[in-house]
Amino acid sequence: MPLVPMRQILDEAAKGGYGVGAFNVNNMEQIQAIMEAASETKSPVIIQASKGALQYSRMIYLKKLMEAAVEENPDIPVAMHLDHGNSLETCKQAIELGFTSVMMDGSLAEDGKTPNTYEQNVEITKRVVDMAHPLGVTVEGELGVLGGIEDGHGAGLSADEVDAHLTDPAQAEDFVAKTGLDALAVAIGTSHGAYKSGRKDPKTGEILPPALAMERIHQIHERMPNCHMVMHGSSSVPKELVDIVNEYGGNMPGTFGIPVEQIQDGIKHGVRKVNVDTDSRLAMTGAIRKVFAEKPEAFDPRKYLGPARQAMKELVYVPRMIAFGQAGHAGDYEFMTLDEMKAFYA
Ligand SMILES: [Zn+2]
Repeated sequence: MPLVPMRQILDEAAKGGYGVGAFNVNNMEQIQAIMEAASETKSPVIIQASKGALQYSRMIYLKKLMEAAVEENPDIPVAMHLDHGNSLETCKQAIELGFTSVMMDGSLAEDGKTPNTYEQNVEITKRVVDMAHPLGVTVEGELGVLGGIEDGHGAGLSADEVDAHLTDPAQAEDFVAKTGLDALAVAIGTSHGAYKSGRKDPKTGEILPPALAMERIHQIHERMPNCHMVMHGSSSVPKELVDIVNEYGGNMPGTFGIPVEQIQDGIKHGVRKVNVDTDSRLAMTGAIRKVFAEKPEAFDPRKYLGPARQAMKELVYVPRMIAFGQAGHAGDYEFMTLDEMKAFYA
């Protein structure tokens, strides 16, 4: 059973009124933890890799691990997605590797740092759509600029600058029409990473969690009820996970996350893909730190990577799959192939 085009997973999620977690991976333990969670909860799932992850895993390893994941779980619809592609070339490379979906992040220039103009974003996104759709591959684009930096990617905007770069609903409609993309990543004040761009309390000077512009999602959904939206930077950064890291020698004060309730509100209004990376990093780091602190004599990697895999599955993937509503939906539909998607786009 091959990987499923992401477009089908999102279309089905829209029909069922649920969201689908898109989880970032770099290694075997993460992929296994996601697949175990998806299998246990009967969830369709999106696995994604950033450009940095492809470099780290040297591409072919990730491809073969994904093949194993699909072979072991023929009843689970799995899409493989490129997160934050920075150029037509990177997207092409991912498709050649067998990815069934790519993100062209045209909100930033190829350096992954400098914001693009709207016209530049339309142009490059449309070029990727024109390349990918004839191959049956799904395309996600991004309008507006997200806060934070991850894997060296991001404009590193401050909280005020984030405000100025939120997605404009009218422009979103124009963007979708001009590019023909399948999924739209929106900037609503979320940032990448565990240290989300907080805002300063004007009275106390205390740094507060980001205020999300959920109304932008509501407005875009009203204008385009069939548009699949994507929420980036949607880790919830639960205090329990950060506490474990800090309890066992870590140093991560002042982290923020996106409350699951806000993600669920987004899902009610057209969000179909929810990107989660930081939470699994936290779960993995906490589990490994705990083993190192409690068993200083341990030196077998299985003794700490095993608990790390278990922690990611139990503390992040299973609860998120249930919270986003994808649990129980793996068997709802027959999987499409890229060839069938070609016909769909034509
Ligand atoms: Zn992102």
